[in-house]
Amino acid sequence: MTTAILQVDRLCKSFGGVHAVRELSFSVEPGQILGLIGPNGSGKSTTVNALAGVFSVTSGEILLAGGHIQTLPEYERVSMGLARTFQTASVFSEFTVREQIRLGCNVTLHSHPLSSVFGIGRHPGEDEAVNQRIEDILELTGLVAVADDTVGTITAAEQRFLMIASALAAQPKILLLDEPAAGLVSHERKVLSHLIKAIRDTGISVLVIEHHMALIMEVCDRIVVLNFGSKIAEGTPEEIRNDQAVIDAYLGEAP
Ligand code: ADP
Ligand code: MG
Repeated sequence: MTTAILQVDRLCKSFGGVHAVRELSFSVEPGQILGLIGPNGSGKSTTVNALAGVFSVTSGEILLAGGHIQTLPEYERVSMGLARTFQTASVFSEFTVREQIRLGCNVTLHSHPLSSVFGIGRHPGEDEAVNQRIEDILELTGLVAVADDTVGTITAAEQRFLMIASALAAQPKILLLDEPAAGLVSHERKVLSHLIKAIRDTGISVLVIEHHMALIMEVCDRIVVLNFGSKIAEGTPEEIRNDQAVIDAYLGEAP
């Protein structure tokens, strides 16, 4: 049996009296794209934030490649291989695209953080390796043409791809994407689908939260469905499409 890249076991998260996530269990296997879907307010973002370590969980366990991470701070989870993007894009507009991706690489550097300024504690070969990684990521995410543009001047879609690029810079084992298609138009969503699969093909597992059902059905190997914080279904896109509890949950959603 292979070890799951991510295993979530009986996860609970309450905000005061609100049970945002209840007894949620699922796992993401190596090379898998898992979709996490559900109506608005069903607990998707809370799950991602709990996995990323934005806040502590009420109860339950989170394992990354077999090791417990639920008590670790956010940055340690990133350096152990769990990277995420946010539902809303937030980037430093004065940096170039390439510089922004370089920032994302910093979590993996063994050199002293000030080595590029003072030349102290450098690891030989690290600069070249990082430069190559940045070029590879620019290529993969389709941002080569805007690599030297400042982040504030690129399109909203390019900013969303940049957020994925920055997360990839941390060399994750698993990438968590929170509504990556938000604000994208049809042809941009197609590019995003290709990108998510291309990321998986490089050996990175993906957990994608998305409201856009066609994209989820297109890219996911398996899907977990939440409603009112609880898992109501899990299966292949085909199984989920025909699941009565899922259909009912979405029909109950305000238009
Ligand atoms: P989704 O991402 O599926 O739309 P969320 O995870 O954002 O849902 O929210 C799940 C539930 O938890 C909602 O009822 C929401 O109001 C509540 N919630 C989320 N974050 C907080 C918070 N920081 N404080 C209080 N309640 C919250
Ligand atoms: Mg959300």
